[in-house]
Amino acid sequence: MGSDIAKVGVGYFKFSKGLNSPGKSLKDYIKQIIQEYMKLHEYKIVDIHGSNLLYSESQRDIYYKDNIIAVGDAISCVNPLGGEGIRHAMHSADIVSRFIVIYLDTQEYLFEDYEKEMRKYFGKKWLISEKLRKIVYGQLNNEMIEKGFNYATGFSTNELMDLLFFYKFDRIDNALNNFILNKLKRLFS
Ligand SMILES: Cc1cc2nc3c(=O)[nH]c(=O)nc-3n(C[C@H](O)[C@H](O)[C@H](O)COP(=O)(O)OP(=O)(O)OC[C@H]3O[C@@H](n4cnc5c(N)ncnc54)[C@H](O)[C@@H]3O)c2cc1C
Repeated sequence: MGSDIAKVGVGYFKFSKGLNSPGKSLKDYIKQIIQEYMKLHEYKIVDIHGSNLLYSESQRDIYYKDNIIAVGDAISCVNPLGGEGIRHAMHSADIVSRFIVIYLDTQEYLFEDYEKEMRKYFGKKWLISEKLRKIVYGQLNNEMIEKGFNYATGFSTNELMDLLFFYKFDRIDNALNNFILNKLKRLFS
């Protein structure tokens, strides 16, 4: 964004089980962020956009069937914790394009290998992000999230980015060891 333009976003997860209504309209949350957290009282809205994002828990997606091949959001490429999807969608397109070329050149239908490569790419980092997401967005109440943010403000921007988008979970080990990771360990045991 430009120096005087900010993109402000709000989202909420609708889990298949349990109640997690956002409580009030998402627009109200955006207003709250702008006014209370960013402390801006005079601003102009230049664009508004939004949509639903479907994600299959535990990535039970179908990658291919006959002449239909799925990429991007259709195979839950969106990072469950940080919500980043474009880079991973492009990665899936990059991988699958090799197999499409092979198919077009030789008629060899190797999309099983596409699925294998993608599942390897997601690996444990998607699984851990899913579990963390359930805890952070599904189980923490406002006060706990506030505390989490207070803690998070101790992170440098790069460290926060590393956690949300590059799966460097070791950084939270020290501070949230007694809380999130213990819960996580219990989930995995
Ligand atoms: C509000 C919002 C903000 C986001 N912000 C970010 C961000 O800042 N950074 C980031 O990395 N990710 C972000 N994402 C996620 C990101 O947009 C997606 O992960 C990414 O666009 C997935 O790409 P895709 O090609 O798989 O799907 P899409 O971009 O959804 O493309 C699918 C296309 O297929 C078309 N289509 C659907 N059905 C049919 C049909 N039957 N026939 C023909 N065409 C069809 C759709 O119209 C669409 O154009 C955001 C998502 C949302 C909803």
